[in-house]
Amino acid sequence: SKSAGKGTVMLYEPGMEDEIVRRRALEIELGQAVANKEFEPFYQPIIDLPTGSVVGIEALVRWRHPRRGLVSPSEFIAVAESSGHIVEIGQIVLEKACLDASALAKPIQVSVNLSMVQLMRVDVPAMVADILARTALAPERLKLEITESVMMCDEARSRDLISRLRELGIWISLDDFGTGYSSLSYLRGFGFDEIKIDRSFVSALDQDPESLAIVQTIIALGRRLGLRVVAEGIETEFQANMIMACGCTRGQGYLFSEPVPFPALKALIEPSMVE
Ligand code: C2E
Ligand code: CA
Ligand code: CA
Ligand code: CA
Repeated sequence: SKSAGKGTVMLYEPGMEDEIVRRRALEIELGQAVANKEFEPFYQPIIDLPTGSVVGIEALVRWRHPRRGLVSPSEFIAVAESSGHIVEIGQIVLEKACLDASALAKPIQVSVNLSMVQLMRVDVPAMVADILARTALAPERLKLEITESVMMCDEARSRDLISRLRELGIWISLDDFGTGYSSLSYLRGFGFDEIKIDRSFVSALDQDPESLAIVQTIIALGRRLGLRVVAEGIETEFQANMIMACGCTRGQGYLFSEPVPFPALKALIEPSMVE
């Protein structure tokens, strides 16, 4: 990725062009970072658009690199998936997110991103059950966002895993809906509770009529299927109003808040409890 996220730094200098060397170096660093516990979730509030109140949070991993500072997931998730480090990183994020959510005064839901690589490599339902028990978080307060970064090679297995997760009482969300691998066929038989409209459609709402038509259609589709719909990447009042006009009441984006560390999130949603 060429663009570093807000408040984050580029991991490598422009001169470092050998892709294989770069990947290998990153893999080794990821292993060390896992051992040193350098990963933590930041949180972005999910907003009830008509009232502006915080109705949920999404955990987004950050790497607190000892020398380079805060590293954005776009810089390392792909390599972490191919190297397998995503399994440990994902577990760290899930556990911390459940712990943080259980410490909130308001019983809102916490959404955690789950990689298909995790789902294929470890017994995710057993891991989730264990973490819920240890953090004492009520299952209905946890939502897993399935990011289709890896093609579902074993659809029957994915279906089974998702139904086992839903049997635990947690929610399952289909992330980045409308893009790449998150296609319509996944809405059949997987039992998703929610779809998230990808930022690419939301950010183009004020530029092209096609995006508006697509957003309207996704929202209508979600309704027909009885799914909750969340719009991500809302940056302007105009976009928020368009999303509401289309009948969607939930959104997240820089208009409301960037992802922030847990103490800042707590202050944001429990203002009276902070001096
Ligand atoms: P995502 O799940 O689609 O998350 C939304 C991304 O959009 C986040 O980027 C968020 O910071 C960013 N975003 C939110 N609102 C706005 C906005 O208004 N404008 C713009 N331009 N961006 C906005 P982030 O945190 O860099 O994460 C990137 C991706 O990395 C995520 O996309 C997700 O696919 C993946 N990811 C993040 N955390 C985890 C994790 O713990 N596990 C796994 N497997 N993947 C993760
Ligand atoms: Ca997500
Ligand atoms: Ca998303
Ligand atoms: Ca997205």
